[in-house]
Amino acid sequence: MMGPAHSLSGAAAWLGVGAAAAAAGHAMPWPVLVAGALICAGAALAPDLDHKAATISRAFGPISRGLCEVIDKLSYSVYKSTRKAGDPRRSGGHRTLTHTWVWAVLIGAGASGLAVIGGRWAVLGILFVHMVLAVEGLLWRAARVSSDVLVWLLGAASAWILADVLHKPGNGSDWLFSAPGQEYLWLGLPIVLGALVHDIGDALTVSGCPILWPIPIGRKRWYPVGPPKGMRFRAGSWVELKVLMPVFMLLGGMGGLAALGVI
Ligand SMILES: [Zn+2]
Repeated sequence: MMGPAHSLSGAAAWLGVGAAAAAAGHAMPWPVLVAGALICAGAALAPDLDHKAATISRAFGPISRGLCEVIDKLSYSVYKSTRKAGDPRRSGGHRTLTHTWVWAVLIGAGASGLAVIGGRWAVLGILFVHMVLAVEGLLWRAARVSSDVLVWLLGAASAWILADVLHKPGNGSDWLFSAPGQEYLWLGLPIVLGALVHDIGDALTVSGCPILWPIPIGRKRWYPVGPPKGMRFRAGSWVELKVLMPVFMLLGGMGGLAALGVI
């Protein structure tokens, strides 16, 4: 899928989690719902850091371009060293390591650890990166006509505001994990979810997605998970734009209302 569909599905997924959490008796305060949906929208672009044309690889200038090269090489070497006889030879790392559940869990756990240990500046940093991505993903072409610097300013401002709002007592810095010292531990959850939702989105497209790595399936360790061939579509096709994106908006809206106890 393309950036906007990934981001929208990420936001909708977190709003759905909000609805489920409310039903399970852990209702999110509204700032957790909003911040989580935006973080998840941003995190849903992150696995494509292994592709130099992807939004995330362009989003932070030379820093993300450099990181993209490292990630691509790392992914490719992990692919080569772990592939089984049934996995095809390939020439680059796109849609391998960063498109697995292992990667999703690792970056989510990393972000949670950083938020808990690093305090306010770590929280601001995590929010900033994901707000920039959310702006890029959700506003898409509208964000592109402006300059990178404007998008960064918008990301920084929204990160700052969200951090202040979340920090107020009762606004959810300790949502779900309420023991002392566990503030912002939940920040990793929308990051894991965003990456998984991205992988599922890619699995629906023609080439599939090796989400289950390193669990071997038959003669493959990088098995391209996906529905039967006839149910797959091309990235950026009309199915994505005219069917999936409106469905994500509808589901997200319903999830959000349920999460806030309106319906
Ligand atoms: Zn992808």
